[in-house]
Amino acid sequence: MTVYLVGAGPGDPDLLTLRAARLLGQADVVVHDALVDDAVLALIPFGVRRIDVGKRPGESVAQESISALLVELGHLHARVVRLKGGDPYVFGRGGEESEALTQAGIGCEVVPGISSAFAAPAAAGIPVTHRGMAPAVTVVTGHRMNGQTVVDWAALGRAGSTLVILMGMAERPTIVAGLMASGLPADTPVAIIERATRGDQHVARGFLAQLADLPGTSPATIVVGAVAALHCAEFAPSTALAFVS
Ligand code: SAH
Repeated sequence: MTVYLVGAGPGDPDLLTLRAARLLGQADVVVHDALVDDAVLALIPFGVRRIDVGKRPGESVAQESISALLVELGHLHARVVRLKGGDPYVFGRGGEESEALTQAGIGCEVVPGISSAFAAPAAAGIPVTHRGMAPAVTVVTGHRMNGQTVVDWAALGRAGSTLVILMGMAERPTIVAGLMASGLPADTPVAIIERATRGDQHVARGFLAQLADLPGTSPATIVVGAVAALHCAEFAPSTALAFVS
């Protein structure tokens, strides 16, 4: 009778919280997104039902049906795990699912996860704040709602903070135009971190004027700001550790 909204982190199973790993081992059923890595799903015990409600372009499961499914499963099982990429409350629509469950009288708990908003830059060796260089960081979505841009790019360009943009790959031309209109220089460093913390992670770096032409496909996180040019210590995916030990 409890649905756990669990953050699965950015991909590498070593970045799950202990609570997430424990709940996966005790779940009666797991409902997961497309973004959850196979290596994380491998922690679900054999025989436990998994339901993939992943939203992929062209074949999306409506958010309302996902919430309705969680309510239905919540009535049937003691422990339902709703597993979401990154953190459930960072662009994960966890808030909507939590509201639907509460309205239906079903217990609901959130288990925070490591968001790709911070893990993806870190995996590329980019500190999102840096003394004397980046006093603030802003996390925004590049996604449109009903065809409309929901973010004031020009205002963000003037804010002087590192920008971390999720779901922004398709909107790169709009983002570049908005930021440059605000006076952000064409040579502001940018980075695209694709499939961060996974074995096939890829990082592309360049300048704001080139952002739309840099390689990379979703899921990818975009960083805009001086820190995007830094190469500090990086995260080593656990597949790499296999060679070390
Ligand atoms: N709740 C998630 C974000 C969901 S929105 C979180 O906290 O991480 C989905 C977007 O997250 C993707 O379009 C991409 O911008 C970003 N993302 C998710 N996983 C990623 C990864 N492994 N590497 C880079 N970006 C990722």
